[in-house]
Amino acid sequence: MSPQDKVSRREFLTKTSLAASTAVAGAATGQVGAQEAEEYVQSDYSVRAKALVAVLTKKNLINPAEIDEVIEFYETKVGPHIVARSWVDPEFRERLLSDANAAATELGIERRRDLAAVANTPQVHNLVVCTLCSCYPWAILGLPPTWYKDAPYRARAVIDPRGVLKEFGTELDEGVEVRVWDSTAEVRYVVIPERPQGTDGMTDGQLQDLVTRDSMIGVEKLKSPV
Ligand code: FE
Repeated sequence: MSPQDKVSRREFLTKTSLAASTAVAGAATGQVGAQEAEEYVQSDYSVRAKALVAVLTKKNLINPAEIDEVIEFYETKVGPHIVARSWVDPEFRERLLSDANAAATELGIERRRDLAAVANTPQVHNLVVCTLCSCYPWAILGLPPTWYKDAPYRARAVIDPRGVLKEFGTELDEGVEVRVWDSTAEVRYVVIPERPQGTDGMTDGQLQDLVTRDSMIGVEKLKSPV
């Protein structure tokens, strides 16, 4: 994904925020003010967080590079490890889909919340959201992307999931069922994307490299590498 893509997605989500909040509330007046207030508070937290990182870094208490490494580890190693394993090991896949907690423990992944895995198939596409706040399977995917926490995504993912997917470049056939999973404080969902075609001879490591964060949230389908 290019930086340009990120900008256009962000713009899209921002532009639709007004319509989304209105639709959810069922009334325009008052709700728009609440929406604006929430966005203000979110940006305020963001400024505070940056200031906190700057102070702690100056005092040599944290190293931003190390924090980035930890985030990247979860985002690019842990989640993709589970997905690739589910592609090559049918028994693991079965265990993962029936009891993701046990399957994660098998791989030595520590969790503080229950985990549920939902698999995409040619007939079913899964999408994860937290309509209430920003619940996310951080033990598998690290920190959530900014757009995941924003009100427009949270509202529109349940109102118009196909429309949201389309804006992420994911167009589904009419016959494909879309299932939206609303994360909670107790249960966090991870999508197991379909294994791309043309990957039969690939090693575990090569398969892991194909798996993206967005595909495990469900906003993206993995493309064939060939
Ligand atoms: Fe939440």
